[in-house]
Amino acid sequence: MENCIFCKIVAGEIPSQKVYEDDTILAFKDIDPKAPVHTIVIPKAHIASLNEVDGDNLKDIAHLISKIPQIAKEQGVDASGYRVVNNIGRDGGQTVAHIHFHILGGRALQWPPG
Ligand code: IMP
Repeated sequence: MENCIFCKIVAGEIPSQKVYEDDTILAFKDIDPKAPVHTIVIPKAHIASLNEVDGDNLKDIAHLISKIPQIAKEQGVDASGYRVVNNIGRDGGQTVAHIHFHILGGRALQWPPG
């Protein structure tokens, strides 16, 4: 998708600190971390948000979610706990219109979010 930052990261046009990659998903460190561990996990295919998940792309999202515990473990937060966040749309705080899941950990996280 043209002008999508995360598609450009997938294409290697924007550098990223990759922590996991396979055929359909990519995980990289957030450029503006909100916790000691802040990893972004995306499908390589462009999906704007959870609102656009359907029968055609659900397999990629299911695969992504199945890999989150492994990625969290590799980031060292599986034992202490971590949070997975998916922001949707303006009021949900989504700033990049390519579906992504935040993995946040490495400190005690507060609840509720603002
Ligand atoms: P959102 O607010 O849920 O859409 O999250 C977007 C996240 O992407 C934010 O936490 C940003 O810091 C992060 N981000 C934006 N651009 C980049 C980048 O080029 N590399 C890594 N993370 C990015």
